[in-house]
Amino acid sequence: MENVSIAAQASVVNRILTDDECTEFADILVKTNKPEYNVLKLVEELAELQEKVIKYHTKSTERKPSKDDLVEEMGDVTLRIMILGQQLGALNDIDDRIAFKLTKLKGWYDQGKYIGGL
Ligand SMILES: [Mg+2]
Repeated sequence: MENVSIAAQASVVNRILTDDECTEFADILVKTNKPEYNVLKLVEELAELQEKVIKYHTKSTERKPSKDDLVEEMGDVTLRIMILGQQLGALNDIDDRIAFKLTKLKGWYDQGKYIGGL
């Protein structure tokens, strides 16, 4: 497992989003697509990620998706969340929710409520 913090990951995403060319194109997706379409694209990508994750755990070694397959779909889902989040004007709310969730998980962890994983 890579030893990269979530904060470092977030800075990578932030760097991508502050690249002018990427930002301009993301803005086009936000402004051009109807919200319903962006919702459906997110659901489509979620289904693709779901399929890869399930197959990762249920298929034999030679048939299971690769790490690259998982990364591809996680990236697709993340992008679609960001597009929809921006369209809804909810990116800061999503950040707040992530912080809240991490705090909540830490609280459960500190109380010993999770054994074997969070
Ligand atoms: Mg995909």
